[in-house]
Amino acid sequence: MVRGIGASSGIAMGRAYVIPTWEWDFPDKLIDVADLAYEFERLYDGIRHSKDEIEQIKQEFVNVLGEEQTQIFDAHLAILEDPVFMNEVQGIMQRQYKAAEVAVKETIEKFVNMFDLLDDGYMKERALDIKDVGNRLLKHLLGALEETLPPRDQPYILVAKELIPSQMVHLDVTQTLGLVTMMGGKTSHVAIMARAMGVPYVLGLEGKLQEPIQTGDFLVIDGDEGIVYVNPPEHEVERYQRMHETWKQQQDQLQQLADHPSQTMDGMQLHLAANISSIKELEQSIAKGASGVGLFRTEFLYMNRTSFPEEEEQFDVYREAAERLGGKPLVIRTLDIGGDKHLDYLELPEEENPSLGYRAIRVLLDRVDLFKTQLRAILRASHYGSIKIMYPMISTLDELRRANEVLGEVKEELTAAGIPYSNHIPVGIMIELPAAVMISDLLAKEVDFFSIGTNDLVQYILAVDRMNEQVAHLYDPFHPAVLRMLKLTSDSAKANGIHISVCGELAGDVRALPLWMSLGIRELSMSVSSILRMKNSLIQSRYSDAANLWQELAGCPSSASVLQVLGRYWETDFAKKTAKEEPSDPPQSESPANGCMQR
Ligand code: PEP
Ligand code: MG
Repeated sequence: MVRGIGASSGIAMGRAYVIPTWEWDFPDKLIDVADLAYEFERLYDGIRHSKDEIEQIKQEFVNVLGEEQTQIFDAHLAILEDPVFMNEVQGIMQRQYKAAEVAVKETIEKFVNMFDLLDDGYMKERALDIKDVGNRLLKHLLGALEETLPPRDQPYILVAKELIPSQMVHLDVTQTLGLVTMMGGKTSHVAIMARAMGVPYVLGLEGKLQEPIQTGDFLVIDGDEGIVYVNPPEHEVERYQRMHETWKQQQDQLQQLADHPSQTMDGMQLHLAANISSIKELEQSIAKGASGVGLFRTEFLYMNRTSFPEEEEQFDVYREAAERLGGKPLVIRTLDIGGDKHLDYLELPEEENPSLGYRAIRVLLDRVDLFKTQLRAILRASHYGSIKIMYPMISTLDELRRANEVLGEVKEELTAAGIPYSNHIPVGIMIELPAAVMISDLLAKEVDFFSIGTNDLVQYILAVDRMNEQVAHLYDPFHPAVLRMLKLTSDSAKANGIHISVCGELAGDVRALPLWMSLGIRELSMSVSSILRMKNSLIQSRYSDAANLWQELAGCPSSASVLQVLGRYWETDFAKKTAKEEPSDPPQSESPANGCMQR
């Protein structure tokens, strides 16, 4: 049993499919001149096999990663036919009498180093392609022919060193039972997407496995506890099968709450909205009774393609989303690219600290063309529903004003062209930088709403990379510094009479519910999979017990004491509740409040 970090809840059992990352180690073998012809034959055989395999994988991967993502395999095939690459390999064999695998390895190293030195993101990506395809060729030359295809007719647990958001967009959820990665963080976008898809996910196993997981190994993963069993004994499998059954029953019970009013026992209403990144997730959120969409992460519309989505295409998506919501609010966040989210076709400079770099509104204010296209599409869609616009990563008043200037220009253009849009479209910002918190009193005067993005806010307050498993234990949303910033933000919003909500992952954490109530927050937007668990807790809690909790929380010196205070709330509330009703336990970490629904 290995313990990593539970990043998406649920239990998954099945065979592993490992996305290979081959690293070979072999001696520098020389060949006899008489064997040169035979060595070339070996090389050509290896190339043939590699090409066949890439073609085959390309077909198989259409299901896993989607059609567009398979273009990468065309690039790999092209490398195997590239005369420069091949001349180099052949030259080393002919002149230095080195074995084919040695020549291939040296060629890979030479090209990778050469491309890596260039200060160009595109070329660096090509270096990775060369490494990848070169490694495949080495695998064939060395005769290590392990199975590399995902099983056709059998779902699998996907295991990888690392996954990126663009791979997740096209993950086939019908085939993917669970995810395991060596790297990553709980609030990385890959983790957020896994939660949205309801796929159990354990990450952060780097350096913890005694032996690497192999394709075909039987895995049991527990996404709540962050546990992975590799080829476990029968009794463990049975134990997890029973837990899985209970979990499924709980999900069915929770589903019955979809139409239940979203309020506390003493009548305080709390809107539970959804964070989505696609129309598919919107459908799921409607099925779960979401009060609307508090965060539409539009960057996923831009991924896994070869060029920017045109205005018309974006308009269709935004309009469809607005219409499906039938008047419920839809908060569309403008493109938040950079950090862990890349677009293959948008060359951004390579950065030492991408999270502190060229991201989101910083990019859009430079690329006004892209910004305008998106704003036009959003504004046009606003004619068909209740849309709000939200800018990400705002750190200064100037950025906000410049973004609003662009918005003003787009409105004028639409008006001049006689194209309808909602003239009263609310405009808000993400509060996800400490700088924005500290000037929230000023920002609040110039926006219609705030939405607190705790994922980034916590990373920036604590200087803890949200994607780095090495420092995951320091990523602490209950740190008193975080709480104080939340309080400051909500006070600024209240003092200026603007709406405030929370849309980071902390919004979906049941433990934090009394905190939100005590801060006077009336809307939480969360991963679709958290909505009903949160409602289950909400309807069993009392606002009156949380209303004055801030006084206690304000004095907490550590996150442990914050959690203690929050824990006591649940104990008190449940003691009152259970005095009248059947016995039930207070909620554990991110578990439903009703004891009968705990795993
Ligand atoms: C956040 O930072 O809390 C947030 C909701 O935005 P994202 O996770 O997309 O960065
Ligand atoms: Mg963010």
